[in-house]
Amino acid sequence: MTPQGQFLSGYYSPDYDIYSESRLTLMSDLREALNKNQTQLYYQPKACMTSGEIVSLEALIRWHHPERGWVYPNDFIPLAEETGVITHITRWALEQGIADLAILLHDHPNLSVSINISARDLETNGLSDLIETTLNHYHVKADRLTIELTETAIMENPEIGLTVLERLADVGLRVSIDDFGSGYSSLSYLKQLPATEIKLDRSLVMDICSCESSKIIVETSINMAHGLGYKVVAEGVEDKETARLLQALNCDWLQGYWLCYPLPIEKLKPWLNGQPKL
Ligand code: C2E
Ligand code: CA
Ligand code: CA
Ligand code: CA
Repeated sequence: MTPQGQFLSGYYSPDYDIYSESRLTLMSDLREALNKNQTQLYYQPKACMTSGEIVSLEALIRWHHPERGWVYPNDFIPLAEETGVITHITRWALEQGIADLAILLHDHPNLSVSINISARDLETNGLSDLIETTLNHYHVKADRLTIELTETAIMENPEIGLTVLERLADVGLRVSIDDFGSGYSSLSYLKQLPATEIKLDRSLVMDICSCESSKIIVETSINMAHGLGYKVVAEGVEDKETARLLQALNCDWLQGYWLCYPLPIEKLKPWLNGQPKL
């Protein structure tokens, strides 16, 4: 039923609220911001646990609204997914992220950039064509780009998810299973995915130093992922103690505030030239 239909019939569902006027205004402001380049990508590094080298940068959208000030992704991404505005965000993020990557590669040829995509994007025809065209336009090789997709997004429609992921992998892109361990991951399903890396959710990683069972879960997940041929990234690492323990558990890469906050590209460039932290 259309939002108007719901309104006229007095039909109520928990989703009803997403069509309220202020939320629709937020979405039209967001579309305008995307068109006028009032949104920005910030980048958060992922470092190799053994060499300390920065292997990748995750692109995270930032929006400074002219009246509301900073509006954070958790306050608009879910709504953008519901309303379909997410496809505009994804197009914009791919264009901006690949353009920035082309510049960064001059000084850091081994870097890659990760872009977050949503379940809804998987249903959009032409996602892999768009990515290929944009990579060609900026002369960037496909293996420099990683697509981050949550396990929940894939499981929403496993058939479509798997087909699209296979196409992306055929193009040569890297695929990362984001927020691993936060949803209802099916291990038997996981082994069919053409993914290259698994990102352990912050909720799994955050208390491994104080909680023995969390440590065991993380250790087992790392071993299992390695057994299936995936690299493992730990997200949301906030202190040195956790970083050292993850290193001892053979985690491959690390990301989190302890290493570096997400930064705009002009602040990231000098940071990349500094001393490695690990
Ligand atoms: P995510 O993909 O799981 O990204 C990680 C989030 O955790 C980011 O929040 C990041 O700033 C934050 N974070 C990083 N290190 C730490 C840490 O050490 N501690 C804590 N507490 N948090 C940390 P952010 O940027 O607010 O993004 C939230 C979510 O919004 C993302 O979760 C992602 O799902 C979504 N998102 C952000 N940008 C985009 C985008 O361009 N496209 C899409 N589709 N989704 C996006
Ligand atoms: Ca992510
Ligand atoms: Ca994540
Ligand atoms: Ca997460």
